[in-house]
Amino acid sequence: MASQVTILGSGTCVPSLTRNPCSFLMQTGGENLLFDCGPGTMRRLLEVGVSIMDISHIFLSHFHPDHSNELAAFLFALKYPAPAAQKQPLTIVAGQGFRSFFERLKKVYGRWIVLPPDLFSVVELDTKDADRHNCTAFGIASMPVSHRPESLAYRIVDADGKALVYSGDTDVCDGLTDIATDADLMICESAFPDDQKADGHLTPSLAGKIAQTAAVRRLVLTHFYPACENVDIEKQCRSTYSGPIVLARDLMTLTL
Ligand SMILES: [Zn+2]
Ligand SMILES: [Zn+2]
Repeated sequence: MASQVTILGSGTCVPSLTRNPCSFLMQTGGENLLFDCGPGTMRRLLEVGVSIMDISHIFLSHFHPDHSNELAAFLFALKYPAPAAQKQPLTIVAGQGFRSFFERLKKVYGRWIVLPPDLFSVVELDTKDADRHNCTAFGIASMPVSHRPESLAYRIVDADGKALVYSGDTDVCDGLTDIATDADLMICESAFPDDQKADGHLTPSLAGKIAQTAAVRRLVLTHFYPACENVDIEKQCRSTYSGPIVLARDLMTLTL
């Protein structure tokens, strides 16, 4: 069966009734992979009929709260109903500093967020260079991008050889073009309109330019701040990218 991607949050830190903070679900080879875990992610998973118990991996792009804030609540919820609610192991994959980030979370929440060692592991990827983490049902590579010291973009290749790339938050950088090269689907941040470029973020035309240079086959723009709602984001992206453009909406599903 072809891999599927469901947008759980196409928004930002700004509260919105239609756009949750960042997260998406990838279903591939019988596994459910979560990318980022902003506030409201668990509710969105319920809305698409996926239990938190079914998530095998959480990949974090970086530690900003709109991408990571539901993590503690997620781990706590895996304990209910006690004992031994969680059945399948969960792996959290993130950039450099995640172990320290997680130790500090544990100082706040203690055993509330500690899962049995046979059901929980952490993988800290290299943020200085490209890195690779191999799983049975899929392959994943990461690349440092320009936003925060721990920021990573991810590339997941499924069993059919189809490649999905997720930018996380980033400004223009060569690493993003490298990891996106020949991707079948790229989920790329496009935080602000072309005339409101912010440091550490992309605009529609910049995201399009990266996707065009990398020969991405289909581009999904996401992470829309409210300023994006009243402008023609697709038109701005079309000025630099000639392939199919999708503007992310919460609960939208795409087939890889
Ligand atoms: Zn950020
Ligand atoms: Zn963000």
